[in-house]
Amino acid sequence: MEFTERALVLRVGRFRENDVWVKLFCAGRGLLTAFAFGGCRSRRRFCGCLDSLVLADFRVEVSHRGGYNVLQEGVLRNAFPGLRGDTRRLGQVANCVKFVEAVQLDASGARPVFDLLLETLATLEGGVVGAEMLPLLFKAKLTFEQGLRPDLSLCVRCGRPIAGHDRADHGFESGGNSDAADDSPRLAFSVERGGLVCDACGDPAAEPLCAGTARALEWIGQSRPADWPRLRLEPFMRRELGRVVDRFVAWHLGLRWENGTYRKI
Ligand SMILES: [Zn+2]
Repeated sequence: MEFTERALVLRVGRFRENDVWVKLFCAGRGLLTAFAFGGCRSRRRFCGCLDSLVLADFRVEVSHRGGYNVLQEGVLRNAFPGLRGDTRRLGQVANCVKFVEAVQLDASGARPVFDLLLETLATLEGGVVGAEMLPLLFKAKLTFEQGLRPDLSLCVRCGRPIAGHDRADHGFESGGNSDAADDSPRLAFSVERGGLVCDACGDPAAEPLCAGTARALEWIGQSRPADWPRLRLEPFMRRELGRVVDRFVAWHLGLRWENGTYRKI
């Protein structure tokens, strides 16, 4: 069997003298490992394709026994030249890639995540998102797209509207009025139930956050990576957002960032 598919090369390694293995993120199949026999020598079949962070169309043959994938050829589509050689941005990319690998997508869920990752790389290539924000935004957005997007308009316990949540303007976007002042109403986010809890219900385990941070969470759910450079958050809102997203990911996907990698918990 053979198929041709667009894929992003996540990792590359050599084995034997001229052979290469690659870990691919395929648009329609998710993650797979494939071998490029003679890949080190064949410029004609794999010109520029056997490098990490390369987008290419690969023709892949699945071995008769179905045990492994063999790359037949690749056509380079994008090598993201704006990211190469920039260690800071490559570190952000590595963080996003590790999250994709850790989430263990099945084939049916691959396409939206593939598109999200490519859009994130294109945005990062523009060089305009705060260094500490991009992996957080990517992690939150990917998690929400796994059917886990929180509903932040109603209390998750009693269903009543949440006071202080319903202002239409997104004051945290650049050009708007910063809403980060101390008079921002305090809210509580239930990590387990995936939404806000009203004052009347209360929940001692809920994560405290201000209305601005709650709206930022909601905005992430509606945004695309191209929108992310517009996000401006006060440092305390960034910390709140980071804490809520980390707990949310740990609870719902069972993943925690530890010592430079995502661990299953
Ligand atoms: Zn309530």
